[in-house]
Amino acid sequence: MDTEKIRRLQNMIDTAGNIVFFGGAGVSTESGIPDFRSADGIYMMDYKYPPEEIISHSFFLSHPKEFFEFYRQYFYYPDAVPNAAHKKLAELETKGKNITVVTQNIDGLHTDAGSKKVYELHGSVLRNYCMKCGKFYDVEYVAKSTGIPKCSCGGTVKPDVVLYEEPLDGPTIEGAVDAISKADLLIVAGTSLRVYPAAGFIRYFKGSNLAIINKERTDMDGDFSLVIHDKVGEVLSAIKA
Ligand code: NAD
Repeated sequence: MDTEKIRRLQNMIDTAGNIVFFGGAGVSTESGIPDFRSADGIYMMDYKYPPEEIISHSFFLSHPKEFFEFYRQYFYYPDAVPNAAHKKLAELETKGKNITVVTQNIDGLHTDAGSKKVYELHGSVLRNYCMKCGKFYDVEYVAKSTGIPKCSCGGTVKPDVVLYEEPLDGPTIEGAVDAISKADLLIVAGTSLRVYPAAGFIRYFKGSNLAIINKERTDMDGDFSLVIHDKVGEVLSAIKA
């Protein structure tokens, strides 16, 4: 790891009043959950339909059985626990840093780790609702059912995750944009910055310190004042809360 870059990141964190951590699937790979676009990511897996198509609203409606087969296999990780990145962010907040997490992830690991200010742009697998009567179901209900999970009223139980073609939740967008626009440090991590509108959120940042921690380079690296090409869990482990 580049110790000079870690020192600069530490200094940015120590001197920041408002921090936003904007993360993607790469934040949870060290918890054993594959991302989409890495070499061992979900998009590289050999499946009968392209994953991008399966996780779309129209596919969910036209092929619900196939959707849930894929969903149970690739979106449910009951043994995954928060890694060093999730834990350090929660620790920073506990120790008094004003830090907000804006995540594209749907795994719930930031709240599991103890972070309180979390905006889940793409929803969460932990929440599931009947499309007909709105009754709540937990993740085990969907994971352990077979075929299409059904509510006691006969409706289909849909995970509260934002599929392609679906809009993001209004209040979540507002909260995330407000936090980003007030931040003086934005740390972007574990995201290819290719999924919109989420990736466009970083444009609302008006502060001076913009850092990215990503294993691989992204097309937007040139926009950042600090670029660290390493694993986010390892990098944040080196940060003192
Ligand atoms: P992506 O797969 O497009 O990109 C992930 C990026 O993270 C890659 O650039 C990769 O190099 C990097 N990365 C992987 N492991 C890393 C690590 N340990 N440290 C630092 N960088 C690492 O993911 P995306 O940009 O988040 O977009 C995919 C969409 O699918 C998002 O909505 C995402 O949340 C969702 N998704 C979520 C999960 C989850 O909830 N855990 C898993 C897969 C996909």
